[in-house]
Amino acid sequence: MSRRDAILEEMGLAPVWRLRNASVPTEDRETQILKMGWEELKRAVPACTACPLHATRAQSVFGVGDERAEWLLVGEAPGAEEDRLGEPFVGQAGKLLDNMLAALGLRRGENVYIANVLKCRPPGNRNPEPAEVAQCTPFLQRQIALIEPRLIVALGRFAAQTLLGTDATIASLRGRLHRYAGVPLVVTYHPAYLLRNLPDKAKAWSDLVFARRAMQDLQAGRAVPN
Ligand code: SF4
Repeated sequence: MSRRDAILEEMGLAPVWRLRNASVPTEDRETQILKMGWEELKRAVPACTACPLHATRAQSVFGVGDERAEWLLVGEAPGAEEDRLGEPFVGQAGKLLDNMLAALGLRRGENVYIANVLKCRPPGNRNPEPAEVAQCTPFLQRQIALIEPRLIVALGRFAAQTLLGTDATIASLRGRLHRYAGVPLVVTYHPAYLLRNLPDKAKAWSDLVFARRAMQDLQAGRAVPN
């Protein structure tokens, strides 16, 4: 023991000094999330209290599907039914989403993963607050990194704007291939919006045709535009 340690021990300060000395900077929350595996993530989301939505949720909604899927569909946030059942896209919007999946030649759980930007329901289905999104997006970021999808479909303005870091409208983002962290991304309407705006269903269908073609090109190794 050094003379300094001996003096500190005499003074009853050694434990404090050792504690301080041992205090390597702790990793911030985001860095920790971005290193998690599936099991850790699945434990972290229901335990998360990083934004006020934890206080009003019945349960968090993690996401469902094939964890090595080529397709990733990203929506906004859980609604009342999702909050109750713990699964994304249930109820009427979920049925429409299933039809959209069928248009892509897909079924839930088979080569497709479905998640939301926010894992907990905003009360009264209000729009998510920027601070809530900032706290929650590392979970989605990590899901995307683990899934390594070939193509992401952003469902609705909120998912599109969050993933692309823009405030552009859906109308201006549709019909083009974007990129999120290098992964090709297609934008279309959210099924809940389509239920209220039936005329836009035809536009959504053409977005899905566009997405399916992009996937075919990606699967065939053909170049897709940036
Ligand atoms: Fe945590 Fe996201 Fe739920 Fe907020 S919405 S409490 S950040 S999991």
